Amino acid sequence: MAKHAVVIAGGGPTGMMLAAELALAKVDVAVVERRSNHVLVGSRAGGFHSRTIELLDQRGVAARFLAEGQVAQAAMIGTTVLDMSDFPTRHPYSLGIWQNQIERIMAAWIAELPVRIYYGCEVKGFSQDDSGVDVELSGGESLRAQYLVGCDGGRSVIRKAAGIEFPGWDPTRSNLIAEAEVTEEPPRGMRQDATGVHGLHRLEDGRTVRVVVTEQQLGPSSEPTLRDLRAALITVYGTDFGIHSPTWIARFTDMTRQAATCRAGRVLLAGDSAHVHYPAGGQGLSLGVHDAVNLGWKLAQVVKGTSAESLLDTYHDERHPVVARALRHTMALTVLQRPDERMKALVDLVSELAIMDEPRKRLAGIISGLDIHYELGEGHPLLGRRMPDLDLLTADGPLRVFTLLHDAKPVLLNLGEPGGFEITPWADRVQAIDAGYAGAWELPVLGAVTPPTALLIRPDGYVAWVGDGTDTGLRDALTTWFGSP
Ligand SMILES: Cc1cc2nc3c(=O)[nH]c(=O)nc-3n(C[C@H](O)[C@H](O)[C@H](O)COP(=O)(O)OP(=O)(O)OC[C@H]3O[C@@H](n4cnc5c(N)ncnc54)[C@H](O)[C@@H]3O)c2cc1C
Repeated sequence: MAKHAVVIAGGGPTGMMLAAELALAKVDVAVVERRSNHVLVGSRAGGFHSRTIELLDQRGVAARFLAEGQVAQAAMIGTTVLDMSDFPTRHPYSLGIWQNQIERIMAAWIAELPVRIYYGCEVKGFSQDDSGVDVELSGGESLRAQYLVGCDGGRSVIRKAAGIEFPGWDPTRSNLIAEAEVTEEPPRGMRQDATGVHGLHRLEDGRTVRVVVTEQQLGPSSEPTLRDLRAALITVYGTDFGIHSPTWIARFTDMTRQAATCRAGRVLLAGDSAHVHYPAGGQGLSLGVHDAVNLGWKLAQVVKGTSAESLLDTYHDERHPVVARALRHTMALTVLQRPDERMKALVDLVSELAIMDEPRKRLAGIISGLDIHYELGEGHPLLGRRMPDLDLLTADGPLRVFTLLHDAKPVLLNLGEPGGFEITPWADRVQAIDAGYAGAWELPVLGAVTPPTALLIRPDGYVAWVGDGTDTGLRDALTTWFGSP
């Protein structure tokens, strides 16, 4: 039986991001992926938002995605675009890029890292004991791991086998999504009616059309057919545009559910396996990537023995409320996509309010992920929030904060007197950097904050301690997050 420190079930965006995080932390990680390679049939998600671009930038790979996508102000509520171009970030926009491109780029990235991938292999179940997990694979094989992470999508086998409840809201509407060819030229743009949104767009090859159509009645859980698609198009448009030769037909719904817990002993959940929702607002892929970046370094430290297992509980404590808030936001966006006359009145009202500065920033903060705040206690507004990518000046020259995070290692950033902190017991785990910074301190949504004199930055880019000219609380923060001295 092959052994790995961590086995990840599912090599979608969440599984690949987690594999990269663990490999960067030098943990022996393997991914078990049902598909025979990383080609994704169907374009699926259409991109991600600002904070996700920042997370990829923290690892030095954002440019690979930016080169293939198109940046745009894509966050919306009602009919109002939530323009975030004035947010203090290097990436004040969303990135339009299809999920099959995202997965191709991610797969190429993890191929550069020491990640073992078992393609064409399915996880069937597992059993855990005090020292590890036996992961049962299709074909009768099994793997032994210290930890198993289910990144196996909304129908997660891992979540079900772990007996983790998945409470939430049943579906009330369904959409068909497909890629196919047509014989009649479809109309441009999206159409909205009392059932929801519909649209046909030509893809880059000029031949394939991507279709999204809301069904009049909630569709069954069985696989949709070309016949279903034709009928749904005729109902909305009065024609099926001669649709034929589909390469992909799928159904998605507004079912909204969240796993009651992200951890059951040595088994954890991340991404769609832990939460599902309607794609309004385009947040699903981002939520999974954020889960992976929150979990990766914690799991790595526990596997290496530098931190106690209880560090893993902070993964649930931090991500569960943040995801719950995002799910509620997608439910609100979804309802606003059904403009019968009464709903249209609400859409107009919300859209009018969202043009105003304060509501625009608040809503853009949620969709972009730039307002994420992990509850790390009272203190400076930066505590538990994202570290801005500042342009620092060091003895060796200019340096961006995100460059310091490329290897997913924590940073103690001293902006005061050089050599002001003594952290020798953590020197093998934490990078200590003396630097100067002369610019403004501004956070998205919150605005200007008091300049700190030092910061302890976690590998996920969130601030674990803020200095006020002394080292009060620093040892505690180092011990809490990066283990005993
Ligand atoms: C139409 C549509 C549009 C969307 N638009 C957006 C958008 O614009 N922006 C956005 O952020 N999100 C969007 N989403 C959501 C997004 O696609 C998902 O949130 C995202 O794919 C979740 O990633 P994941 O890795 O957690 O799960 P998945 O992408 O589902 O990956 C799971 C992986 O696990 C594998 N697998 C499953 N079971 C097993 C098993 N037992 N053993 C081994 N492997 C297994 C699968 O083959 C797959 O590769 C959209 C979704 C849909 C359907």
